[in-house]
Amino acid sequence: MRLEPCYFCGSTIYPGHGTKFVRNDCKIFNFCRGKCQKAFSKKRNPRKTRWTKAYRKARGKDLTVDPIFELEKRRNEPVKLTEALIKNVVESMKTIETIRVKRAGQHIKNRLKEGKRLRLKEVAKYEKAEMKHKETTSSNVELVKPTLELLKEKAKKREKEVKVEVEYVKEDEELLMETA
Ligand SMILES: [Zn+2]
Repeated sequence: MRLEPCYFCGSTIYPGHGTKFVRNDCKIFNFCRGKCQKAFSKKRNPRKTRWTKAYRKARGKDLTVDPIFELEKRRNEPVKLTEALIKNVVESMKTIETIRVKRAGQHIKNRLKEGKRLRLKEVAKYEKAEMKHKETTSSNVELVKPTLELLKEKAKKREKEVKVEVEYVKEDEELLMETA
């Protein structure tokens, strides 16, 4: 039995949960709960709704490019199921899941690191400007100190310009090839 993702939020729908909607052009939409179905019938865009996986992926908050997603893809080849194959699949599912969690964590860590670097850069920039300001002006007028929010915003803008170099956990690559 295959676990379907929710059309709207992208979470997994387990047996006995959710609803299925068949549009009059035969396209099937699966929803995990009423919240997602309602949002869909209101014609909300999942890429613009903050709590969906589509939004997170579109903004680079979640891991999107990784060989691990290849395993999940639907294939059009018919597979003959044998006992050994099923056993192998069930066992490899565990390892794949641990690798997936690890990589998702690494992705977030990389992003946090990059954000911190950019914020520190902004602080350094401000300090330099302050020094210059003090040298050139003798009055008591002070520069407006940027708040943390402002710095974050600036860093975010930078982040969009600077392509974040993503380092993946390479050590699991071999393990992945074996299970694939
Ligand atoms: Zn959903």
